[in-house]
Amino acid sequence: MDPRRAVPSTDTTLADPRLATALVVLGRERVRDSVREVQDLVRTGAVTVEAIVPRVVSQLSVSGLRPVINATGAVLHTNLGRAPLSDSAMLAVTAAARHVDVEYDLTTGTRAPRGRSALAALRRALPDAGDVLVVNNGAAALMLSVTALAAGQEVLWSRGELVEIGDGFRLTDLVASAGVGIREVGTTNRTTRADYVIGPDTACILKVHPSNFVISGFTSAPSVAELAGLGPPLVVDVGSGLLDPDPLLPDEPSVSHALRAGAGLVTCSGDKLLGGPQCGIVAGTSELVSRVRRHPLARAVRVDKLTLAALEATLDGSTPTRVALHADPDDLRRRATRIAEQTGGEVVPSAGVVGGGAAPGLELPGWAVALSASLHAPLRLGEPPIVGRVHQGRLLLDLRAVPPDADDVLVRAIQAARV
Ligand SMILES: *Cc1c(COP(=O)(O)O)cnc(C)c1O
Repeated sequence: MDPRRAVPSTDTTLADPRLATALVVLGRERVRDSVREVQDLVRTGAVTVEAIVPRVVSQLSVSGLRPVINATGAVLHTNLGRAPLSDSAMLAVTAAARHVDVEYDLTTGTRAPRGRSALAALRRALPDAGDVLVVNNGAAALMLSVTALAAGQEVLWSRGELVEIGDGFRLTDLVASAGVGIREVGTTNRTTRADYVIGPDTACILKVHPSNFVISGFTSAPSVAELAGLGPPLVVDVGSGLLDPDPLLPDEPSVSHALRAGAGLVTCSGDKLLGGPQCGIVAGTSELVSRVRRHPLARAVRVDKLTLAALEATLDGSTPTRVALHADPDDLRRRATRIAEQTGGEVVPSAGVVGGGAAPGLELPGWAVALSASLHAPLRLGEPPIVGRVHQGRLLLDLRAVPPDADDVLVRAIQAARV
């Protein structure tokens, strides 16, 4: 038999659920090109018809990191890579993968400040900052800031803000490892401005947002403005990277608010609420930021060109993180209903969370498709892998962080996992 007759049509192959993630992530054109290449191999007899799809999948997957669908209801799931990049940030990363003028002035043909266009975009986004700096992550931003300001001296730090960020890492150990003495002040639940007694060794005051826990009841903590008036520079770690206040997240401190209230330096992550690539941001007065930038450790936590490109593009528009956070519950319910109808699931209310060490205790009302818990493993192991959460003996697929164009992928994956 003529092998050409046996080759399924391109559209048939593209409809295979095993290619669904690739279509979403890489775009139809790229996947179609790969399918056509493999079809040619089938025509020469080098590849069997059954091997077409696995061959395309392996051609397209260039690393061991597998794109997954986050149906957990946690918008920023640290185990799933926190914030997904926006389309424009992905394009920026692809472009920056080549040779780029990251540290070169094309007009003069000489060295230029590294990542200047990303830093300019960040300065525009934070008009209250005298200057900004980008490093590898939030932990590095904090570490570098306190090292530059207080190595060999001490910081004052409230006992209510001694945070363990995750995986056993404590910010106190991080700061101490930089040779910075920590003088704890106040108590777990209440700390006042009068507790911050400036001593001869006090180089700065540190205020850390308790980003992953809530203390409620008889509590108090001085504001940024109160601490800024004490004398030594105030370093505020806001954690989540919210640049401006968001009414949806009333308890999340923003970078701009801390700057306006008089913080000398503000640090945060780039891949939490900012919705960008993993990075750490330091914003503050020009004098303090320049001390931080000139510290030798700055070179060890320098950010790469791909991150600079992604950050700049992130600052330019909306992000999937923002869309997921602000998703309309009615819309989520309509999507859940459609999926449930096609898969025999049930639509149930589901409380999403921000996750990733931001807005603890806040519930985001939404909707999920409830299925038998026996589908948990098959869906995780399928292509694309779908990660939901088991609640009261059932598997919930919460749509908040699922891109709407992946709904059909979800339907086909559930149908495939059922058989
Ligand atoms: C998340 C967080 C950090 C660490 O940031 P990474 O980007 O994960 O390194 C530090 N401080 C606070 C308050 C945080 O919430």
